[in-house]
Amino acid sequence: MFDSLFSLFSHDLGIDLGTANILVHVRGKGIAVREPSIVARHAKTKQIIAVGAEAKKMLGKTPATILAIKPLEHGVISDFDAAQYLLSYYIRKVHEYGSRFSKFARPRVVVGIPSGVTEVERRAVWEAALQAGARECYLIEEPMAAAIGAGVSVFEPTGVMTVDIGGGTTEIAVISLGGIVVNRSLKIAGNEMDSAIIHYIRLRHGLLIGEKTAEEVKIKIGTAYNKKQKTKTPVSKGKKDDISNALEIQDEEVRIEMEKKGEKVAVIRGRDIETGLPKSLRISEIEIREAIGPVISQIVDSVMEVIEETPPELTSDILEHGILLTGGGSLLTGVDDLIIERTRIPVTVVNDPLTTVVRGTAKLLENADMLSRVKVTGGLR
Ligand code: ADP
Ligand code: MG
Repeated sequence: MFDSLFSLFSHDLGIDLGTANILVHVRGKGIAVREPSIVARHAKTKQIIAVGAEAKKMLGKTPATILAIKPLEHGVISDFDAAQYLLSYYIRKVHEYGSRFSKFARPRVVVGIPSGVTEVERRAVWEAALQAGARECYLIEEPMAAAIGAGVSVFEPTGVMTVDIGGGTTEIAVISLGGIVVNRSLKIAGNEMDSAIIHYIRLRHGLLIGEKTAEEVKIKIGTAYNKKQKTKTPVSKGKKDDISNALEIQDEEVRIEMEKKGEKVAVIRGRDIETGLPKSLRISEIEIREAIGPVISQIVDSVMEVIEETPPELTSDILEHGILLTGGGSLLTGVDDLIIERTRIPVTVVNDPLTTVVRGTAKLLENADMLSRVKVTGGLR
């Protein structure tokens, strides 16, 4: 009885509304939702058929009557209804799971959104949260939430650089004194690597593969940097978490083999362009590196550009403290080494990079003062 009453006050939610994944943290309980940001909807009736992992399973397999939608694919809200549904679905779900009294509990909600989201889109997110039962909703730009989640003190007069490689966007930002000084939201990230793999395999091997297979190959044998060519770098490297935090893959399509010289090889299945029949193919780590190389180069180029735009006083702080690398894309083997080589600046991969933003929103809920200083929008209606 008392437990249920207490839960009235303990349902504050921190949410990472990412382009690839939505995560919900319940205050005092931890991360309760960790699902792909995908909604499957009937094309004509507009009825929602599945959300999250269920909807992701449908990717590339839907008949013409069903659409699998990524409502935030490029860091802007491309489908308002789907985005609102996604957000309110998980807010309600966490709510219901709390207790039978919880429908009376009206949580405070902090949502991390990509920094490229416009005013109108922000309003849509804010309203979706209120409609789903939130008492108050605050929006936080993802780079800020990421820095806070990584445990950096963002209010110091010290420059902090964050690079968040997600699914649809790479968010590059320099933060100082509680504000974002320089910021770039690049529409090139993990999804673009998957597309590059699809393109490469079609061109080189005449094999058509799907998005999910491409992502699986990338996660299993993808690398950004050839260690054997590695020249001695005097700059230090932060600790990298093991990849046990990587996304769980359901319905495995890709099998891994080890080649002689320690290079990994994956066996993938697809459709032969010429014959139209199913075919499998062995593809090496080296080829995947070649396929995604140009995408990663563009990301590193943008990092360089942001550094060039940064005021010199802050650049020296960044040189000293290093770049914070986060987001699912930071789990790609060697991406940190490549950034170190190109920028000559130390890089630290944040522990558990898929949850950095949501952990940041959770910390903000614990600290009203900090929240009021970094929020973009929100408060009582
Ligand atoms: P977002 O914040 O945009 O929702 P995430 O930070 O959740 O994105 O990262 C999702 C991206 O990270 C996807 O493109 C996914 O394929 C990629 N990813 C996840 N794990 C790995 C891994 N081990 N290696 C490479 N890429 C990964
Ligand atoms: Mg993210």
